[in-house]
Amino acid sequence: MSVKHEELVSKHEELVSKHEELASKLEDIKLYINGEFVDAEDKGTFDNISPFTNEKINSIASGQAADIDKAVQSAKKAFKGEWGNLKQAERLEYVYKIGDLIEQHTDEIALLESLDTGLPIAQTRKQVSRSANNFRFYADTVKSQMYGEVYQVDDEFINYTVHSAVGVAGLITPWNAPFMLETWKIAPALATGNTVILKPAEWSPLTANRMAEIIDQAGLPDGVFNIVHGFGETAGDALVKHPDVQLISFTGETTTGSTIMKNGADALKRFSMELGGKSPIIVFEDADLDRALDAATWGIFSFNGERCTANSRLYLHESIANEFIEKLKERVWNIKVGDPLEDDTQVGPLIKTEHYNNVKNYLKIAEEEGCEIISGDIPTELSRGNYVAPTILLNASNEMRVVQEEIFGPVIAVMTFKEEAEVIEKANDVRYGLAGYVWTNDIKRGHRVAHAIESGMLWVNSQNVRDLRTPFGGSKDSGIGREGGHYAFEFYTEQKIIHVAIGDHHIPQFGK
Ligand code: NAD
Repeated sequence: MSVKHEELVSKHEELVSKHEELASKLEDIKLYINGEFVDAEDKGTFDNISPFTNEKINSIASGQAADIDKAVQSAKKAFKGEWGNLKQAERLEYVYKIGDLIEQHTDEIALLESLDTGLPIAQTRKQVSRSANNFRFYADTVKSQMYGEVYQVDDEFINYTVHSAVGVAGLITPWNAPFMLETWKIAPALATGNTVILKPAEWSPLTANRMAEIIDQAGLPDGVFNIVHGFGETAGDALVKHPDVQLISFTGETTTGSTIMKNGADALKRFSMELGGKSPIIVFEDADLDRALDAATWGIFSFNGERCTANSRLYLHESIANEFIEKLKERVWNIKVGDPLEDDTQVGPLIKTEHYNNVKNYLKIAEEEGCEIISGDIPTELSRGNYVAPTILLNASNEMRVVQEEIFGPVIAVMTFKEEAEVIEKANDVRYGLAGYVWTNDIKRGHRVAHAIESGMLWVNSQNVRDLRTPFGGSKDSGIGREGGHYAFEFYTEQKIIHVAIGDHHIPQFGK
C-alpha cells in the first residue's frame, strides 16, 4: 500500500468511526402520542440508515393505522378540552417557548440533522435557527395579523369575520430539510389553535423525535402535539383517510401529493400541497455575472441539490454563455465535497441509496440524451457514502428528460438563448412552477420577465432569500395553496362570518 493510500484508508476509518460513535449514543425512537413516548401498537420498527456509512443508526417505531387513530383521538380530546379553551396569549406562550428551546439546542439539533440526512452541518445550523424563528414569527403574526374584517350595511347590519382553529391537523413532511419544514407547519398550526399529528419522512426521523422531546419539555397539554413515525403508504395513508383529521398539510413529491388528494377525497379534507420543482435561473447579458454565478452555484449545490426551489435549469444569454460556463466549471471542481459533520463541507452524501441510484440514473439518461457531463471530484475516503459529485449538464435542451424532470440532486442543466421571448417560453415549458430567478440590470426587463414566468415565487438579482411574511408556494404541478405570513391563516383557520342585525330590516312574512 502506498503512503497516500494508507492515509486515505485511515482517514476513512476515522470518519466512519466518528459517525458510528455518535449513532451508538442514540436511543431507539418511539412514537409520541398523548404526551407519552410509546411503541407502535404492533411493536413494529424499521431501521434508520446513515447516508454516510450506509449502516444502521437506530430503530424507529413504525406506526400503523391503529397508532394514527390513537393519536387522532388524543388530538381531538385536546382540541375540545384544555388547548381549545386556552386564551390566545396563553397558547402563544407555549409557541414562544418551543422557539426558545429550539434555539438553546441549535448545535445539537443540527448535528442530529446532518448525521441523519447527510446535509452539511454549516447549512443545518442555519436551518435550525430559522426553525426557532418560525415559532416566534407565527406567534407574533397570530397576535398582530389574525384579525377579521367588518362590513357595515347601512344602518341595518354589521357583518364581521372571525378566525377559529379548524381542529386536528395532519402534517406530512419530506426528508430534504426535515426539521425546518416540520416547523413551518407545526408553528402556524399550533399558533392558530389547532392540534397536530406529524407524520415525518421515514428517511429522516431523528430531529422529528427531538421536536417531540422539546415540545414535551415545553409542557404543552397532552395530545396537542403527536408524532407517528412510519411509512407513507401505511401511517401517512391512515392519517390522510382518517375522518376526524380536518386538514392535511403536505410537502413532498407531486405524484405523492396527487395520491394523497385522491385518498383523502372521501373524507373531504382541506389540503395544502407544497410539491416538486424544476426552477429556471435566467442570466441576461447585462447581469452582474459574478453575483449571478454565486447565486446559481449556491442555488443548485447547497442542500446537496435536494432543495425544492433549486435552480436546476440554467438559461444563459448566448453572448456570455462561454465565459459563465468556464467559471461555473471552476466552481464545481472547487466545491468542498466532504463529511457532513465537518464545518467546511459544502456538499455531503445524498439521503439514501435509493435516491442516490435515482440521481445516478439521471446522469446516465443525460449521457444518452446527448449532454456533455462535467463533474467535480469525490474524495476517496468518502467511498461508503451516497455521494454524487456536483455536476453540470452541458448541451442540454428543453425536450430532454433531464430538463423536464426533477432530479433532486447536485445537477444543473445548462442551456443558452438569444431573445427574451424565447427564454420566457423555455422557462415556462415544464409542468412545474415553484420558483424562478432572473438576473439582469435592466429594471424594466427584470420585472417584465418575473411577471411572465409561470411560478409561485420569483427572485430578481437574488438567490432564494425567504421573507417569512410573504406567500410561499407553487403554481402548476408545484402546489396548491400558500404557506407563510397571514396566508397560512387561510389554511389553518376557519373564517366565519357573523351577520348582526342592528335595526329592524325587512323580513318576509310568509303565512302571516
Ligand atoms: P415524498 O412525496 O416521497 O414523501 C413525502 C412524505 O409523504 C413522506 O413523509 C412520506 O412518507 C409521505 N407519503 C408517501 N406516500 C404517502 C401516501 N400514500 N400517503 C400519505 N403520505 C405519504 O417526498 P420526499 O422524497 O420525502 O421529498 C422530496 C420531494 O419534496 C421533492 O419532490 C421536493 O421538490 C418536494 N419538496 C417540496 C417543497 C415545497 O415547498 N414545494 C419543499 C421541500 C420538498
